[in-house]
Amino acid sequence: MEDTVIPKELAPVVAFHGHFCPGVLIGWRAAKLAMKLLGVSRDRDEELVTVTENDACGVDAIQYILGCTFGKGNLHFRDWGKQAFTVYRRSDGKGVRLALIPPDRELTREESAQRLLSEPDEVLFSVGEAKELMPERARIHSSVRCDLCGERVMETRVRSLPDGRRTCIPCAERETSAQ
Ligand SMILES: [Zn+2]
Ligand SMILES: [Zn+2]
Repeated sequence: MEDTVIPKELAPVVAFHGHFCPGVLIGWRAAKLAMKLLGVSRDRDEELVTVTENDACGVDAIQYILGCTFGKGNLHFRDWGKQAFTVYRRSDGKGVRLALIPPDRELTREESAQRLLSEPDEVLFSVGEAKELMPERARIHSSVRCDLCGERVMETRVRSLPDGRRTCIPCAERETSAQ
């Protein structure tokens, strides 16, 4: 990767992610394309919402560029292992889903990075409509005390054991696997 010329605008994204890799380039290209398609600039007031279908390197670029983060509640993770991102405009809920088009042959990391730096959008991503409605803003839920560990847990995450005790998820899983 040493010979690869990194565009200036990419430097802070790479710094945020911690290293330069093809994965972070996927997120960088997807983020820029989503902004172009939705006609928005970088998120300031939670104007964008992202559903990511993977938790790999590219999500860091999505967070950095689009301002979609778990902490703000405008980043949603679907554990599907797909290089696809759906980005929504909060104002009207319009969303676009960008799915990475795989190269037609196996590429080295260097070639893969080069492809992501140089190919036009339409070679890299297939663009479609959002497949689900824009996820709703996270609500504040009341919390309940876990009957086993005593820690407080958000009401919607409480599990009920067969004996009626109400617990947090890790305690419920420990109880069921112990039986
Ligand atoms: Zn990476
Ligand atoms: Zn517990």
